This record gives sequence, structure tokens and C-alpha cells, in this order.
Amino acid sequence: MLRSRDVCVNVRVTWAKGSGMGRMRGPSLFVGLMVGVVLWASSAQAFCWWNCNTAKTKYPIVLAHGAAGFDELFGVLEYWYGIPGALQSKGATVFVTEVSQLNATEVRGEQLLAQVETIVAITGKPKVNLIGHSHGGLDVRYVASVRPDLVASVTSVGTPHKGAELADYLADNFEDGSFTQAVLNFFAEALGTVIGLLSGTTNPQDGLAALDSLTSAGTAVFNASHPQAIPGSSCGEGASSVNGVRYYSWSGTGVLTNVFDLSDPALGLTSLFYSEANDGLVGRCSSHLGDVIRDNYFQNHLDEVNQLFGLVSIFTSNPKTLFKNHANRLKNLGL
Ligand code: CA
Repeated sequence: MLRSRDVCVNVRVTWAKGSGMGRMRGPSLFVGLMVGVVLWASSAQAFCWWNCNTAKTKYPIVLAHGAAGFDELFGVLEYWYGIPGALQSKGATVFVTEVSQLNATEVRGEQLLAQVETIVAITGKPKVNLIGHSHGGLDVRYVASVRPDLVASVTSVGTPHKGAELADYLADNFEDGSFTQAVLNFFAEALGTVIGLLSGTTNPQDGLAALDSLTSAGTAVFNASHPQAIPGSSCGEGASSVNGVRYYSWSGTGVLTNVFDLSDPALGLTSLFYSEANDGLVGRCSSHLGDVIRDNYFQNHLDEVNQLFGLVSIFTSNPKTLFKNHANRLKNLGL
């Protein structure tokens, strides 16, 4: 099992900053208001003076990133922009994991499992609440499939459980072993390596394995081995609970949501590859897993994790609010 050496050397987990900061009750409220401005400036995401335990789940919340993702770049820029702090400000204990930026779901899933084992050891809590974005939603399913005893709940956000049409297009149009495929794979893996290095990790990269994991064919193979909470119909909901694990999903179908976000035009382009409503990279029905909380928020694929830099639609629920509401949902279920 887990050895202390493994924790230090082989496993990368970020205990999100600000845990436990700024939670005040009763008589502390007045003092809290007085110093609030200062704290807001220094630790805005962790400050709270009202209903500060609404996201205080029984088990830690673990956030698992998508393809080409990370925990933090330069130790500062969060993948889950402002989300860990938002959850912590409402009492949650949050961990942000990091796996290979580009690799097969099983490879990323095993890396994530090692980190979950570490979190369980660190916290003394027997289980975790897993939340995965994009490819991370497949990773968390893998962990829950092979070690359901460690998982209280699985939630996917914008995950292509039945494949992404853009991945299908790329896989279909680049011949196996061709020069074009080799060049694209080289650049994809180089990008993954650079992102990993900037976030302080050197996990192995395999661009073609990542692409295969996100195609319709690749996810069908994965779903056959790990079928928990996958809808039986093309656009239905899956089982609410399997092997004692609660399953949820949500996703968006907005694409151009904020004129100031430079990533919106790129997602507008990729959305053209899809035959159904989508978030720019994942189709509405493909995102379904377990209980579907909602599948058409006015959010694109990056809005779902409050990117870029919090530039999301101002006319719909803020992504941070959705995460806080979900933590409250899990808390109310005793998870
Ligand atoms: Ca955005």
C-alpha cells in the first residue's frame, strides 16, 4: 500500500490554498466586516461571512482536469479558475490533482487513483467526491470503477462520455502512421510536456492515445469496461448510484458567451464539427452521466471551469455558483 516515500516522490496533489481561512460565525461577524476589505484583497476567494458551511461536504472534493490541463501554471494560474477558493469559502476541503496532460484514460486514471489514495491517507477520510472536467470526467469514472470503496460521488462537467465529434474527425482524417499524424502528435506531446513542466510535473505524454480515448470508438471500448452510470439510451440519464457511488453530470451548450474572451472564436470554429448542441468541444447528449443536473447551461467548454480568467456570460449562472451549489447538494446527501 501507500508508503510515505511514495507520497513525497511519486504523487502530485495540490491542497488548494486558503483552506479553512476566513470562516467566521456569530460575534466574529462585526470584526469580520471590519477586516473584510483587507482580507478580500488578500484572499478574496476564501473569505466568507455568511452561510460559510454550505459546501462543507463530509468527504474532500477532488478536482480532476481535462486534456492539456494542469493544476496551476507557474504556481499561480489555476485550471479551475477561482473554483477551489469559492468552494473553500463555503467550508469545503478541496484538492486539485494533476495527471498527464495528454494520455489514455487508463493511464491518467491510474495516476489519479494514486493521488486519491494519498488524499485519503492525508485527510483520514475514507472516501472522496470526484469532479472531473472534460477528459477528467473519464479519469474519475475509471477511479470509481476500479476502487469504488474510495469514492463517494463522481461528477463530470463537459465530458464526452460517448466521444467528441472533433476527436472523431481528427482520428478519421489523419491516416495511421502518416507524416501529418506524426507531426501533429509531436506538437501535441510537446505542448503537453511544456504545460506539465510549467506546472511542475513530468508525466508521460501520448497525444494519439489521448485522441483515441476521446473518440466515439475509444469511449465505446472504455464504456464497455467501465459502464457505471452511462445512459442506456442515446440521450437519456444514467443510474443515480452504482456500487455505492453517486453519479452526476452537467454541461453547457453556449459557444460565443463573452465578447472579451479570446478563446470564444476558437470554440466557435470547433463547434462546427458537431451535429448536436455542444459547448464547442463536447456534445450535449455525449455529456450525460448518472443524474443529469443540466445539459444546456449558456457556457462553453472553457466557461465550465470559469476560463479564461473568469470571462464567462454575465447573463446566466456563474460557474463558481454551480460548483458551490453542487457541493451543497453532496453535503445534503451526507457525502
Ligand atoms: Ca470563457
